[in-house]
Amino acid sequence: MRAAVVRDFNEDLSIETVDDPTCPENGVVLEVAACGVCRSDYHGWTGGHPKVINGSILGHEYCGTVIESGPRAKYKVGDKLIAPFILACGDCPACHTGVSNTCENSIVPGFGAPGAYAEFVAVPYDHNLVYLPESMSPALAAGLGCRVTTAWHALTDRANVRAGEWVAIHGTGGIGLSALLLAKMIGAQVVVVDVVEEKLNHAMQLGADAAVNASDTDAAAAIRDITGGGAHVSIEALGIEATTNASVECLATLGRHVHVGMPAGSGHMQINMRAIYSKQLAFFGTRGMPSWKYPSLLAMIERGEVDISPMVARKISLSGASAELRAMNGPTPPGTAVITDLRN
Ligand SMILES: [Zn+2]
Ligand SMILES: [Zn+2]
Repeated sequence: MRAAVVRDFNEDLSIETVDDPTCPENGVVLEVAACGVCRSDYHGWTGGHPKVINGSILGHEYCGTVIESGPRAKYKVGDKLIAPFILACGDCPACHTGVSNTCENSIVPGFGAPGAYAEFVAVPYDHNLVYLPESMSPALAAGLGCRVTTAWHALTDRANVRAGEWVAIHGTGGIGLSALLLAKMIGAQVVVVDVVEEKLNHAMQLGADAAVNASDTDAAAAIRDITGGGAHVSIEALGIEATTNASVECLATLGRHVHVGMPAGSGHMQINMRAIYSKQLAFFGTRGMPSWKYPSLLAMIERGEVDISPMVARKISLSGASAELRAMNGPTPPGTAVITDLRN
């Protein structure tokens, strides 16, 4: 199969012909229909993720059609499926208690197992997958497995956002845009922060109530001003020190910070603990979403209660992924890129 392979960090991915994946006994092989390019991939591509090494194939947000099915698989050849990025084992205390996104036996294609920047991908533990709704394009579905689900879980399960509350969103990439669209659906008021004016304008067109450009403003002070004392909930959607501090500092007393952005490298940061202490904040970490929450989220999207189509800005080919990763070295344009041509 054709695949985009990591050879040297920070260099273009190598488009190669590699062995087709072997079908897992407890899963399937998908012919990839679409795969999103995510900032987590960027961390791997720069050498900032321990599981991405020479020879790795990135790609954790994908959907596709089953072309081979193992003896213990749930799905059969021809099924069109969306994959969550966390493939949980289904048979451990975490999986048995509804928090499969914390499963210690989980497998994540793209990080330690070959990912979906390729024509085919092996998917073990296929019970995590869900049917791709007929009304949904593969490009749109590809972003669901990582960004939309992660944002939904952050808002609903971690922060428990309620209608009318102010939600601040730091970073308007894939996660930030998803969080904006979903928070508006819940009935929250949303203030977005970025350093790219074009992305802030885009977010305002998509329903944000206010926008703050952190390149020329103290973002936390501006948000406290806009919200009349501070946001109730703040979503950190980038994973760096500056946005983490802006997030805790923009919150009102008893506010809830949710850390969604994946920190690169060792993960150590200098954080304003006085803000956390004196305002008695809650500080949540979050990663992914348990797969049992998919049907309700998909149903809301299918019913048209939220339109996630603005997420996908560019459809690209396999060989176009390198330019997207390289672009993440600096501020990026609005929306995300999805690989829909997996051969070239
Ligand atoms: Zn992702
Ligand atoms: Zn498990």
